[in-house]
Amino acid sequence: MYLHRHVRRRQARDPRDRCRIWREAYRDFQNAGIRLQTTDVNGEIQRSPGGRPVFLGLKRGVINMVITDNVPMHWDQARGLSGISTIHEGYHLSMISMKRAHTHRVPFFSVNTCVHELLHVIFQDIYLPRQSTFKAGQLEARVDWQATRMWLFPGGDEIRKAAEAYLERASRLQ
Ligand SMILES: [Zn+2]
Repeated sequence: MYLHRHVRRRQARDPRDRCRIWREAYRDFQNAGIRLQTTDVNGEIQRSPGGRPVFLGLKRGVINMVITDNVPMHWDQARGLSGISTIHEGYHLSMISMKRAHTHRVPFFSVNTCVHELLHVIFQDIYLPRQSTFKAGQLEARVDWQATRMWLFPGGDEIRKAAEAYLERASRLQ
């Protein structure tokens, strides 16, 4: 699976910390039979006059992983999110707030932020319209459950099948 990673030059967080989160995500996906391939670009987020974030250098047909200090207000709405995944102007986008992102902490409740966000993409939650709180809670629970399985019981092929289905759908809609 191909990730187009947008990294900003200056970031509050220690790069070693960042590496730990990524290393763990790579390992988990690798264990599930999915190899994450990444290219890094220098990402920049600007803001349109109307307040919508404008990302420079997004690519179609790949998952754009935007590594930033904070999730832009447009999505965050003062909730202090560690990440968000969505389709933004046709681009598939996973955004990670490096101030809040973390490695696996507590099974089912607090899992690796990168794994969590990528699973929202793989399970195609990004295609869904905005969900009610209840439904959104169910989607969160599914992702955290799958991330926990990848972390503690590697080897299942459900994630791989889901990833294949996602890639198939993404390529059809390009
Ligand atoms: Zn989530």
